[in-house]
Amino acid sequence: MQEKEELSKILVVDDEKINIDVLVGLLKPYYRTVVAKDGMQALKRLETQPLPDLILLDIIMPGMNGYEVCIKIKDNPATRDIPVIFITGKHEEDDEARGFWVGAVDYITKPFSPLIALSRVKNHIELKRRGDMLERLAGLDGLTGIPNRRQFDQFLNAEWKRSLRYNRSFSLIFIDIDFFKLFNDHYGHTKGDECLKKVAHSIFNAAPRTEDLTARYGGEEFACILPETGNEGALKVARRIIESVRALKVPHVQSKIADYVTISVGLATASQPLGRALNLVSLADKAVYQAKEKGRNQIVNFNDIEQLIIRYHASR
Ligand SMILES: [Mg+2]
Repeated sequence: MQEKEELSKILVVDDEKINIDVLVGLLKPYYRTVVAKDGMQALKRLETQPLPDLILLDIIMPGMNGYEVCIKIKDNPATRDIPVIFITGKHEEDDEARGFWVGAVDYITKPFSPLIALSRVKNHIELKRRGDMLERLAGLDGLTGIPNRRQFDQFLNAEWKRSLRYNRSFSLIFIDIDFFKLFNDHYGHTKGDECLKKVAHSIFNAAPRTEDLTARYGGEEFACILPETGNEGALKVARRIIESVRALKVPHVQSKIADYVTISVGLATASQPLGRALNLVSLADKAVYQAKEKGRNQIVNFNDIEQLIIRYHASR
């Protein structure tokens, strides 16, 4: 356990050198530490791999404050899952609530007992490590519990190869929640997570065949792989999916098209699989993009005409 913890990396963000020195001194025997003296520098640090396993974030800083930095971290799919703990001299109840609102996992107020601060850090690092391991081993998304991107990629490649071999049609559905950033900004990060879970389960239940795979593809993106499914059958599933999310009636006052959370859906079918699975992925992706362009809350269906495009690319 000790060895694993020594590998964990913590980013400490604070504008005062004395605070950084105290925190780094406390953490150094157990973790690898990186420091940033303001929000801009913190975000810069998050552009390089390996990403930290935890972030300790001061609230009052010149320029961007801690809340703003946290919102940016949680808005970026690449950094969204890194736990953030606020460390600050502020201790009003409102500030604490705001910290959780923007997506922090914990809140430590100065002056803090070094032992308690260290224990909290250790707990969150351990939780993150277990969550990461489960995701890796089970191929499940930590938040929603449905298959993750890794499982999606493996399943897609295996099933696509089978379709090529037996020349069976193959469909792919891509889904994106409409105005999800506005939802998060308005209702807060916790409600945003709840919304993601509800939508994920709703999509998952609308595509119930065991031959299919429904996965969380990215932040607010989901995807269904439908092997041996022609366009007509896949369109039925796509309609069920869009209806099931509408039926959830999750309130969304910031949506520009409805009172409730809606999704944009892209469907692409390869009736005669050719070339690489990635071609179909980019078509499904393009279909979602068109659904967005056309006003969202709808399905765009790329059927056989698109086969010409696939063949064209495959023959080059
Ligand atoms: Mg400060």
